[in-house]
Amino acid sequence: MSRYTGPLCRLCRAEGTKLFLKGDRCYSEKCAVGRRNHRPGQHGSRRPKETEYGVRLREKQKMRRIYGMHEAAFRRFYSMATRMPGQTGHAFFQLLERRLDNVVFRLGFASSRRQARQLVRHGHITLNGKRANIPSALVRPGDIVAIAEKSRDIAWVRDNLEVARTRGVPAWLELNADRAEGRVLSLPTREQIDVLVNEQLVVEFYAR
Ligand code: SF4
Repeated sequence: MSRYTGPLCRLCRAEGTKLFLKGDRCYSEKCAVGRRNHRPGQHGSRRPKETEYGVRLREKQKMRRIYGMHEAAFRRFYSMATRMPGQTGHAFFQLLERRLDNVVFRLGFASSRRQARQLVRHGHITLNGKRANIPSALVRPGDIVAIAEKSRDIAWVRDNLEVARTRGVPAWLELNADRAEGRVLSLPTREQIDVLVNEQLVVEFYAR
């Protein structure tokens, strides 16, 4: 399946909510959801008929787009979650949050998950001291995620680090901005994941 290369803001408008795909712009007045509050396209202002299936599908699409994943990979993560103990919805969220690209974003090394994925793919990130270039690698408590030494002088990486220093990180992570590294303290609880998606609807979508 090919990667979506169209305008990212269009995805938010299609879902009718902010998915925070563009970093700082999402927190500014330039955000398209605030400025054009209707779905994209010629018939965007028409209200689509809501079915149970449609509601679950939209919730699944929202969650998948927030984490920027292809359907096949997203579904694979869901299958892994069904084999884990506890609630599937929570396990699913936990797996998605443990992805290396997500942790790079959460630590503030990148302003969006898309930028974080690029950092990982291009070899700018290390995991426990070793180069890690697989965005879907899963971190564990105790792992150290850092910006590779040679990449710390890239201007936008330095800017991101300065923002991260003041913004802070979720409680399950710890940031040492001076060393450009972060530590995974624990696995995230649902309360520590600020993604506004009803994961139960996503579970119901796949379990149908
Ligand atoms: Fe979505 Fe961000 Fe674009 Fe707003 S600025 S529509 S939140 S991608």
